[in-house]
Amino acid sequence: MNMLDQLTVRQVKGVSASKEEELHAFGIHTVADLLDYFPFRYEDYRLRSLTEIKDGEKATVAGVIRGNPMLQRYGKNKSRLTSKIEVDGMLITAVWFNRPFLKDQLVPGRPIRLTGKWEPNRLQLTVSESEFADQESKSAKSGTLQPVYSVGGAITQTWLRKTVRQALAQFGSMIQEVLPAELVESRRLVPRREAVEGIHLPDGTTVGAEARRRLVYEELFLFQLKLQAFRSLNRDRADGIMHSIEAETIRRFAASLPFELTAAQKKVVNEIVHDMRQPYAMNRLLQGDVGSGKTVVAAIALMAAVRSGHQGALMVPTEILAEQHVRSLQKLFAGEGFQVALLTGSLTERKRRDVLAGLQMGMIDIVVGTHALIQEDVFFRSLGLVVTDEQHRFGVNQRSILRRKGMNPDVLTMTATPIPRTLAITAFGDMDVSTLRERPHGRKPIKTYWVKHSMMDRVYGFIRREVNESRQAYIICPLIEESDKLDVQNAIDVHVQIQQAFPDLRVGLLHGRMSAAEKDQEMHKFGANESQVLVATTVVEVGVDVPNATLIVIMDAERFGLSQLHQLRGRVGRGAHQSYCVLVADPKSEVGRERMNVMTETDDGFEVARRDLDLRGPGDFFGTKQSGLPDFKLADMVADYGVLEQARDDAAELTGREDFWVNPAYSGIREILKQDHIFQGEQLD
Ligand code: ADP
Ligand code: MG
Repeated sequence: MNMLDQLTVRQVKGVSASKEEELHAFGIHTVADLLDYFPFRYEDYRLRSLTEIKDGEKATVAGVIRGNPMLQRYGKNKSRLTSKIEVDGMLITAVWFNRPFLKDQLVPGRPIRLTGKWEPNRLQLTVSESEFADQESKSAKSGTLQPVYSVGGAITQTWLRKTVRQALAQFGSMIQEVLPAELVESRRLVPRREAVEGIHLPDGTTVGAEARRRLVYEELFLFQLKLQAFRSLNRDRADGIMHSIEAETIRRFAASLPFELTAAQKKVVNEIVHDMRQPYAMNRLLQGDVGSGKTVVAAIALMAAVRSGHQGALMVPTEILAEQHVRSLQKLFAGEGFQVALLTGSLTERKRRDVLAGLQMGMIDIVVGTHALIQEDVFFRSLGLVVTDEQHRFGVNQRSILRRKGMNPDVLTMTATPIPRTLAITAFGDMDVSTLRERPHGRKPIKTYWVKHSMMDRVYGFIRREVNESRQAYIICPLIEESDKLDVQNAIDVHVQIQQAFPDLRVGLLHGRMSAAEKDQEMHKFGANESQVLVATTVVEVGVDVPNATLIVIMDAERFGLSQLHQLRGRVGRGAHQSYCVLVADPKSEVGRERMNVMTETDDGFEVARRDLDLRGPGDFFGTKQSGLPDFKLADMVADYGVLEQARDDAAELTGREDFWVNPAYSGIREILKQDHIFQGEQLD
């Protein structure tokens, strides 16, 4: 047991009740939390020699005061203090602004350390901070690297630095090793205490790098340990549902579809059905680019569950998507006699009660819903398969709550945010991964153009042309609210403009402020080609499927990230007709222009994801809370990729050992596993 987990931060000298309260906002409750609150960068106060400092660079130098200081006052409360200082045998001018009180302390002959901006041409240093070298001070910065923490409110940088230092002095000796001794040795890691001290108080040598390497390894190892332990537990336990489904049944169903399954879809169906027949619970990620046809794969898996006497649940992030999936599943299963129901937050109370009863009694075979599915009062007679669509919108927690509504059901997780396979395997270490790389036959690549706002006339012409061909168009707007500051066209305005430009057409409008019923109605009209143009916010971003739509115009495209642009583009190109994506953007930054270039150069989601990764780095790529991945404190998925792989292999090796769950050498890490929510309710020993 780690003692530091039991001590509140109040135990650290200098932490008052009110400061303790403020620290809670940063997730800091215990001394352990405080010591694990790592700096995200350092300020460099190490002493430099003048000759190596570039023009305009900020640096710290040591010198001696020569000559008497001069103080000029001007304006109200404004002043300029100058003094000659000898640094590295050179006489330079140091300038302080608005620090008149220093004048009396600038005594000739006194040693001083200056941090500031150096201008070699004028031999002048504009001082931002100075310290007298003859004044003993615990918080002296010069000569050191100073940690920079994420702070705010009453918690200032200076105060937090002091408090962490104090905590280390009081409790440093109680920092315990958490990794098994054999790993510390084989991976040549510095002990935990040394690493924690090193990361907060780096001495500017390699120890800092070693401290970081050790803590990054620890972070990634513990992350992987959870995934790998969970996976091995799952496999060994063999108490999942063995679904029994005949290959013939699937073949017959596939033959009833209006199209032939692609080779990729067949392969993925086989992988899934194979898993579903096994005695362990399936935990599989299905990744496939937008439009690759994931829904029908999910439908076949759901059918396998129902044919085996169980129920299936499909969880999606938006009500629009839920409505759409219910409709398409009802159509697909028309000949099977399955009961497919919808469960969302906007059902009437009576309707909701009916659905809940139907699920509990087993009258409903398949339920499609939003997070309304994971409410406490939802019970299943026998939940055999859980499918989540667009998984990046859900957290691990939400998925595991749904999983627990059955007796260890199979789980299929679908994502259209394609993740390069190596990253997928590492990140989703507890899942098996299936990939749909090819799109259905006959799909032409989506042609993507980037135009300036000044070319809107031509865009209108484009819309007219597609509509004349009986096709339909989306127009996507970033925000719905008027905002002067951000020069953004809102959906309501654009809707008026478009309707005026095309008085003979019905132009639909869809945004987040509309009720679920209104949204459904608009989607329905667009789906039935009763409206030819749909002006929408990003509510249509995920999953929406209207194969007759062949043009998507994205206004202010520079406001969107690459993966979002790609998701939006995926609303077209879902049928046999040539489709187009027009990005209307005047990007001001290099990255913005680069994003537009990537979009026009490729419509392959894997390629887009890879370029996105290059442009942003994966911290951001996975960064959202929605990704279901933890926000790593120190580790960076690209820079530390090698460590991540090593940590994964080490974790897999360790959890695969016969004695992992009993050997006292691993009791420390078993303790950590038990605290994690995904293991709660699991029998670990
Ligand atoms: P996504 O992977 O983005 O969820 P969908 O499952 O919505 O894609 O499929 C996109 C469109 O392609 C749908 O209209 C669907 O009916 C159609 N589709 C799926 N599989 C095939 C196929 N094998 N051949 C032709 N069309 C298909
Ligand atoms: Mg989909």
